[in-house]
Amino acid sequence: MSGEHQMPNTPKSPGWVTWVPVMYSRTVPAIGLEIREDVALAPLTTFGVGGAARFFAVAKGEPDVAYAAAWAAEHGLPLFVLGGGSNLLVRDEGFDGLVLQMGIAGIEDRGEGLFAVGPGESWDGFVQQMADTGYAGVECLAGIPGSVGGTPVQNVGAYGQEVSETIESVRAFDRSAGDFVELAKEECRFRYRQSRFNTEEPGRFIVTEARFRLRPGGAPTLKYAELKERVGTGTLPSLSEVARTVREIRRCKGMLLVAGDAENHTAGSFFKNPVVETEMLAPIAAAAGIAVEKVPHWPTGEGQIKIPAAWLLERAGFVKGWGEGSVGISSRHTLALVNRGGASFEDVERVRSEIVDGVWQKFGIRLEREPVVMN
Ligand SMILES: Cc1cc2nc3c(=O)[nH]c(=O)nc-3n(C[C@H](O)[C@H](O)[C@H](O)COP(=O)(O)OP(=O)(O)OC[C@H]3O[C@@H](n4cnc5c(N)ncnc54)[C@H](O)[C@@H]3O)c2cc1C
Repeated sequence: MSGEHQMPNTPKSPGWVTWVPVMYSRTVPAIGLEIREDVALAPLTTFGVGGAARFFAVAKGEPDVAYAAAWAAEHGLPLFVLGGGSNLLVRDEGFDGLVLQMGIAGIEDRGEGLFAVGPGESWDGFVQQMADTGYAGVECLAGIPGSVGGTPVQNVGAYGQEVSETIESVRAFDRSAGDFVELAKEECRFRYRQSRFNTEEPGRFIVTEARFRLRPGGAPTLKYAELKERVGTGTLPSLSEVARTVREIRRCKGMLLVAGDAENHTAGSFFKNPVVETEMLAPIAAAAGIAVEKVPHWPTGEGQIKIPAAWLLERAGFVKGWGEGSVGISSRHTLALVNRGGASFEDVERVRSEIVDGVWQKFGIRLEREPVVMN
């Protein structure tokens, strides 16, 4: 993680206000959750832009979550759940509501490879612990920043694994029902970088525990060509070796947050890989001036294909290191925008529009932003 970016913690902003609930109408214990006013959000995100939260609190347990949700509803305020802020952009005007940072910790071993993990745990810390103690299933997801609670939201994946392969169930606070629910894996509706949490029902569920079923003593997953190549074909590498190798690969690609790195202020991949009709292949090839077979793509079913957004960017002239202002493309990863220092959300938006327009003009494909905007 970046030296400056801390997760989850208690921000060093002044002005504690303890809100004692008056006329409290829900069956939530009056726990006296500390809700602060005017808390800067940029330091709580990896990209590091944007204004302050009007109200801010850190949930340390489930009662805090239920209390905060009820408090926000009672005051007619929107609520936004914050994990590690690694897939998030905050607007310059900040957030006119309650930001609830998930600080619920704990990794509980329930036996036979089942682990119940608090959403506030660092994802990479959990991966390391599992790899070091011989539990297979998440070793390829080493080096992904953020919290455990953020991983089911976008079904994080990399280097041949996705969390949906190991998540057995999720416990969450259902804001519609005002109660806690248990969601089996199938009920989470996991797809490629999607779940019901970030598509059909964004904001409805607050994840308070994720349960992972890992393989005790299991072999590492070696599906990804570059990973296989790096670990070699000799003896089977340990889970820790695989996790370390994944981090090395990520570091070379600028996809690992390393303290002191000038390009640390990023949200990872900034654009989604677009899904287009298969007939688009010919015009894309013509626009790029290459043969159809040379256009990188993979089928997604039903006459559609996915095109790597990074390839489109490069072909449209948005290459590594592009951009002269405070926001530009990473020098090591075409798909990652970086805050080079002092950027605002407005700066990010300007650069995003320029890239989206450029790719649209060249290929007739409109790229979509991957990080969530706090709304
Ligand atoms: C350098 C870098 C590399 C990355 N590499 C990858 C990668 O390889 N693969 C990949 O999939 N992603 C990657 N990401 C994206 C990001 O790390 C993941 O999406 C991560 O899981 C986000 O978790 P977070 O805790 O930081 O969530 P946040 O950024 O804090 O929030 C993201 C969204 O999740 C919601 N959320 C967070 N916690 C909860 C909760 N407990 N309950 C309900 N909703 C919640 C928020 O409301 C928000 O909508 C990368 C990011 C960076 C900066």
